[in-house]
Amino acid sequence: MKKISILVPCYNEGQTLPLLYPELKALMDTHPSYGWEVLFVNDGSKDNTLDIIKSLRAADRRICYVNLTRNFGKENAMLAGFDYVSGDCMIIMDADLQDPPSLIPEMLAYWEQGYEDVYAKRANRGEESWLRKKLSLLFYKILDHSTRFDILQNVGDFRLLDRCCINALKRLRESERYTKGMFCWIGYKKKEIVFDRQNRVAGHSNWSFWSLLNLAIEGITSFTTAPLRLATVFGFFVAFFAFCLMLYYGVKTIVFGDEARGFTTLIVIILFMGGIQLLTIGILGEYVGRIFNETKKRPVYLADTYNGAKISGNALLAHD
Ligand code: UDP
Ligand code: MG
Repeated sequence: MKKISILVPCYNEGQTLPLLYPELKALMDTHPSYGWEVLFVNDGSKDNTLDIIKSLRAADRRICYVNLTRNFGKENAMLAGFDYVSGDCMIIMDADLQDPPSLIPEMLAYWEQGYEDVYAKRANRGEESWLRKKLSLLFYKILDHSTRFDILQNVGDFRLLDRCCINALKRLRESERYTKGMFCWIGYKKKEIVFDRQNRVAGHSNWSFWSLLNLAIEGITSFTTAPLRLATVFGFFVAFFAFCLMLYYGVKTIVFGDEARGFTTLIVIILFMGGIQLLTIGILGEYVGRIFNETKKRPVYLADTYNGAKISGNALLAHD
């Protein structure tokens, strides 16, 4: 019997889990031809999420859980999930029912046809501000134009991945994680299905504007060095322009004599150059910071218990 794992990263989802579980249970019960596992990764929740997961497991042994030692963020929590799922394929979904479980049978049907990565594309983006929509569009454009593989637009983490994809993802253990990019990077046979994204059933989104901006910078800096090249190209053009200007003023001074005007031009050019230099150093800094973080080779997450059993330090290393 093939085993299907459903991976749900949870951070303060005490309100949504009691609504999510009946839907998952209905799905599992109506598809008895598969073995099922629901793996909750408790990402250091500060509410009663862990207690709810424990009581769910007490009633239903198909429920499994990994408890992380603190909040590591969704990207890292997902890696913990990849390490602990045991199924022949895995479906990643959010706890807040924004990813409808009703789509899962369709995903499974495509998986049975031989597709290895069945991803759900959003026809709409749910309740989001105009600015957030525009900025995310811009972000996808930049990323897509500067990487060698296709970056999928409006595709979240809601997808089915075959065991071969899970094993591939487990090998990508960088600490600066942008998992959406990794799904594209690993390749494999992909299939798209389209759905309408719902709004959260309860609670509120854990992403603030700044955490999304951080994720966007993470996405760009961990998948492309295009900004560094842009800085070089821009630097070259500014230097060339400055050289022409120097020639022009040099000749002008020699032919027409010295005149102490042009204060405004001078200030503007100095400020402009200063700005460009700071920006370029900032871009460099982003990459150097990432190199710094990667060289520490810290584990991406620390797990405390698996299904209630304490994980020893050695067992942790076995997953690295
Ligand atoms: N999540 C997590 N760790 C975090 C933040 C979020 O595991 O630090 C989980 C959260 O519980 C949910 C999923 O990631 O299952 C998506 O989070 P959210 O709904 O806040 O994001 P959005 O839908 O707004 O992108
Ligand atoms: Mg959500």
